[in-house]
Amino acid sequence: MAEPALFETYNRAPLRFERGEGVWLTTESGERYMDFAAGIAVNSLGHAHPHLVAALKDQADKLWHLSNLYDVPGQEKLARRLTEATFADRVFFTNSGAEALEASIKTARRYQYAKGHPERFHIITFEGAFHGRTLAAIAAGGQPKYLEGFGPKVQGFDQVPFGDLDAVKAAITEATAAILIEPIQGEGGLRLASKEFLHALRQLCDEHGLLLILDEVQCGVGRTCKFFAHEWAGITPDIMAVAKGIGGGFPLGACLATEEAASGMKPGTHGTTYGGNPLAMSVGNAVLDVVLADGFLEHVQDVALVFRQGLEGLKDRFPDVIEEIRGDGLMLGIKAKVANTELLMAMREEHLLGVPAGDNVIRLLPPLTVTAEEAREGLARIERAAGSLSKSTLRKTA
Ligand SMILES: *Cc1c(COP(=O)(O)O)cnc(C)c1O
Repeated sequence: MAEPALFETYNRAPLRFERGEGVWLTTESGERYMDFAAGIAVNSLGHAHPHLVAALKDQADKLWHLSNLYDVPGQEKLARRLTEATFADRVFFTNSGAEALEASIKTARRYQYAKGHPERFHIITFEGAFHGRTLAAIAAGGQPKYLEGFGPKVQGFDQVPFGDLDAVKAAITEATAAILIEPIQGEGGLRLASKEFLHALRQLCDEHGLLLILDEVQCGVGRTCKFFAHEWAGITPDIMAVAKGIGGGFPLGACLATEEAASGMKPGTHGTTYGGNPLAMSVGNAVLDVVLADGFLEHVQDVALVFRQGLEGLKDRFPDVIEEIRGDGLMLGIKAKVANTELLMAMREEHLLGVPAGDNVIRLLPPLTVTAEEAREGLARIERAAGSLSKSTLRKTA
């Protein structure tokens, strides 16, 4: 077959999927795979969830696009539900995570500007962060491999080591506007910010008149068994970027903010053509119907416990393949002793899909609807994959 006429930006796996149902994907030739990548934590309710499909089809018959020149009832409904369930008072809808970050960064800078501090536009960020691929988002992420060759880095991002409170304190200046952090680093290798650290950041922001921005694009919307990951720490941000899981596979993101933090964003300061379109709103509302229903997050917690315990067991049995189990809820990572790509390949041989991350980690992000039985089936496949790479004799005794 001729090479596809696409940018060569991705090294794609040689798998061609045709359809999906729940945690299962089926290739063109009829082979079935367990999807523990879920579009990188995007297909939060699995593939072809009947309630999401129905919501999208229903809206598709009525109206696809309006622009933000008119009221979009779905926006008002989704914003009301998001603000009722979180710290936020205001929502700006986007199509992606990077756009949610752009809106968050602009909201924070504009807040300081409106308060009479135009010089305060710097944002403190953390090593290993990932905030998306726009010019500002790669500057915020600070990873040289994503910045290289794209001209001068967008100004105003000061990066410090993840979890290093003294470094954060030392980085605060008269020009600082905000602190931006992922409560759990996703691409960076499933590193958790401790409760104490998040508390300390909240306190520093309060002391210095800074805004706390959380990037919950990957860890939000039920992934950690709470609606949002920061709830575990008992703190609230001023601004939060959301995407991925909130759309269940339909492009949708959001910037959430308190009334105060959003106060600089007046008419004309920001905009989007597609953000908040009726199709996305219908799916976003349908996702919340499921995620916020009684008992759903408890289900996530029950399955997450089964999965985590199983993975810890595999770590004990294959210490030469698995170094550590990381993460929280259904956002788990295997830090591999072998190359993470080698273990991922062995998992793929067993027809189970994961996602690589930094620090030699494999991310396991199954749909939140995964059953305990499916989690055990996934564990059996990971066990065979790890066993195929292990030289340990322990595997024979278990
Ligand atoms: C994926 C991701 C983004 C970027 O989202 P896009 O939709 O790809 O723009 C930003 N932050 C985090 C934490 C992410 O995981």
